[in-house]
Amino acid sequence: MMPRRIAILGSTGSIGTTALRVLGRQRDRFQVSALTAFSNAALLSEQEAEFHPAFVGIVNNGTGNHDAWRSGSDCLIAAATRDDVDIVINAVVGGAGLDATLAALERGKRVALANKESLVMAGDLVVAALKRGGGELVPVDSEHSAILQCITGRPGAEVRRVILTASGGPFRRWTSEQIERATLADALQHPTWRMGRKITVDSATLANKALEVIEAHHLFGLSFDQIEVVVHPQSVIHSFVEFVDGSVLAQLGVPSMELPVLYALTHPERVPDTGVPPFDPVELSPMTFERVRADDFPALSLGVAAGRRGGAAPAVFNAANEEAVSLFLDGRIRFADIASAIRAALDALRDRPGDSRDNILTADEAARRHVRTQFQC
Ligand code: NAD
Ligand code: MG
Repeated sequence: MMPRRIAILGSTGSIGTTALRVLGRQRDRFQVSALTAFSNAALLSEQEAEFHPAFVGIVNNGTGNHDAWRSGSDCLIAAATRDDVDIVINAVVGGAGLDATLAALERGKRVALANKESLVMAGDLVVAALKRGGGELVPVDSEHSAILQCITGRPGAEVRRVILTASGGPFRRWTSEQIERATLADALQHPTWRMGRKITVDSATLANKALEVIEAHHLFGLSFDQIEVVVHPQSVIHSFVEFVDGSVLAQLGVPSMELPVLYALTHPERVPDTGVPPFDPVELSPMTFERVRADDFPALSLGVAAGRRGGAAPAVFNAANEEAVSLFLDGRIRFADIASAIRAALDALRDRPGDSRDNILTADEAARRHVRTQFQC
């Protein structure tokens, strides 16, 4: 069998390096054709020396000249649409991944999607590109991988409901007063997952879970009433699916992104020799569940409401969150400001259309501007 040829967008990040670790163990099945990164040229050239891709693209090469690319998107699109690429792992963080997701799907590629932001901001456009191009959209996110693994082989009409699990983040047991005063260092202490900084903060606010609810809506064609969230601090059960007969299936595993990354490449098949540690339910005990403290983590309800509203509201939610998280990471706003910035942007930018890329990007830019203006940044 010919090896499947892979492009990794964002190869120097948390998911990108995990993907290369997985691919390093599966060299007879997969070959790396293209790698891109925003910066970190040193790591990128180590990866190049190990995997010998035909294409290597860096957006910011450290000289201040943005390489040969007009924009980051051009670099990502060039990698994602190559003839020698079958599967595009989109592991870029943020809305910057949108054009590459669209272009890869239009070209009929399989997109192994870690970059949930592209699906959240422009879900209808992504699904339309998927249909037009005849490609495949397979989630890397562990919750969505779990759902896919539970429903594969069953007709969609048999699914009654999905329940996404959330670790609850570092502030799960903090009082609302403590959360008010949370520092950047506090927010970056995720209890169960080691990830990039933006998604780590999103997990602390629970904005990540809102992004994931919207992601599930588009990926599986579920209404928002069919998607629930439960807190599961151990992150062993990656999500549940309830079927129409009342039966519930779940997918379990140690908290590691290696399996969801690999499954996104092999779906619907499974392959051996993955290096995943043996499953020991006693070792992983106890497994517990809690209701979400929605009032103390307002970003979750704000995001789900934006998803229900549709149009450009999910793009506004996503962009306001990205901008606020970036200001928080720079030490310019407080933790609690993230959710209030999102709320204010959603209130100010209501009922904008989300039916074209231009409209989405206009709303995205307006939301970012709104957040910066609010904090005079
Ligand atoms: P990260 O910050 O560790 O890595 C991001 C990668 O994207 C880097 O290679 C960076 O160079 C590149 N990049 C950043 N901005 C770019 C731009 N403007 N143009 C081109 N390239 C750019 O992030 P991560 O934690 O690996 O997350 C990546 C995506 O995967 C996010 O959408 C995140 O929500 C999702 N995800 C991550 C995890 C995880 O365990 N880390 C789990 C589930 C989903
Ligand atoms: Mg997830």
